[in-house]
Amino acid sequence: MQQKQNNRALIWFRNNLRVHDNTSIFEALKNHNSVLALYCFDPRHFRVTQFGFKKTEKFRARFLIQTITDLKQQLSKLNIPLLIYQNTPENCIPNIVSNYNIDAVYTQKEWTKEEVLVTDNLKKNLLNSISFIENYDQFLFHPEDIELAKNEIPDVFTDFRKHLEKNSKVRTVISNINKGTSNVITENTLIPTLKDLGFHDYETHSNTAFPFQGGESNALQRLHYYFFETKKLGVYKQTRNGLIGKDFSSKFSPWLANGSLSVRTIYWEVKRFEQEYFKNESTYWLVFELIWRDYFKYISLKHQNNIFKIGGILKKTYDWNDDEKLIKNWIAGTTTEPFVNANMIELRKTGWMSNRGRQNVASFFAKALELDWRIGAAYFESMLLDYDVHSNYGNWMYVSGVGNDPRDRKFNIKLQAERYDAASKYQNVWLQNKLFE
Ligand code: FAD
Repeated sequence: MQQKQNNRALIWFRNNLRVHDNTSIFEALKNHNSVLALYCFDPRHFRVTQFGFKKTEKFRARFLIQTITDLKQQLSKLNIPLLIYQNTPENCIPNIVSNYNIDAVYTQKEWTKEEVLVTDNLKKNLLNSISFIENYDQFLFHPEDIELAKNEIPDVFTDFRKHLEKNSKVRTVISNINKGTSNVITENTLIPTLKDLGFHDYETHSNTAFPFQGGESNALQRLHYYFFETKKLGVYKQTRNGLIGKDFSSKFSPWLANGSLSVRTIYWEVKRFEQEYFKNESTYWLVFELIWRDYFKYISLKHQNNIFKIGGILKKTYDWNDDEKLIKNWIAGTTTEPFVNANMIELRKTGWMSNRGRQNVASFFAKALELDWRIGAAYFESMLLDYDVHSNYGNWMYVSGVGNDPRDRKFNIKLQAERYDAASKYQNVWLQNKLFE
């Protein structure tokens, strides 16, 4: 049996905000006598960015506060104290490392521009003797298991999916983790309030599709409800294009995005469901969608910063515009298309929009109004509860004709509204509501 080193580790949490199936926690507890943890509310995440939107709006900010509150409780059960600062990791971590005699820092590996800059700057501030251990913990199929080099990742999703389904396996979830020793005494740090992050408190809108609450406890409860209590998983394929209500789709995305739900856990719970109840097109389709999620992560691994550039991964040139009035109307939900308007109002009031809605409003923005797609993506980044850099920029590129759609489709918004909202039920929820506010 491996001997624990008599030393201390720090887990630096990023978008892996859970205790279940967490490689950093598992390895830190396996290799070290005492372990403490850190989460930084990075002020840069709450600032206005290039296109004039706050990087994070109130919806995701509140969800994050709830997530950290739960994380702190779950970690305490493992005797891991969580330090919380409103500061940058580059500033905080070197001090913690020296104050608490830390020998090793564990974290989730990220590869997009802003995240890499933070990691690189932090490493410069740490002594070489400190081990820095990064793990990919956000994938369904781990990058070491896919038998493809980065440059071999197919640019067509179906080719990618078939390759994975044939050649790779999803790793089992981590279980049997140790507990830390309870002798780490830390200062008492506080979780910031919404006000501390620059927002007012707000009530969840009464028409919200889902009353999202952050934290892994809520995530796991939702998973149990959607799969085992209601067996909605079994009809997912038929309902997934819905627009109204809690259960037309899984609503896992906000928890997946900040890592409070492990994608491997979802996968193995689907397998358990299939064994205990039944296997059908719907149970397969949820995994199919999770492969889409992986796909956009692999696309950003392959194409790096091109996912943020106007020409996208195809390096295509279009005649984009940035007409302020058109953008304002899109955001306000006052365009010529009621179906787009309803969706944009839902997003503004709740931080949520269905997948069908997102495809339509993004296609309208980029293909009908011919607006610079990066502005729409930045607005989504600000507003979405479930913003995920890879899924957001990957999907925006796809819909805008600079990404992975081999057919470069443009949505016919009126036909889409007729097909998915024939009786205008959804549009009435948001457009009528608007008259009274
Ligand atoms: P379900 O239908 O229940 O699907 C289960 C899971 O599969 C989702 O939680 C998600 O993790 C994954 N998934 C499903 N569809 C997609 C997809 N098209 N791409 C990637 N993963 C998918 N998703 C995000 O998580 N974050 C984003 O920032 C984001 N931005 C988007 C921007 C645009 C323009 C578009 C068209 C889509 C975007 N999506 C994004 C993908 C998708 O709309 C959401 O993942 C989905 O609506 C979340 O709802 P759900 O969890 O109920 O999904």
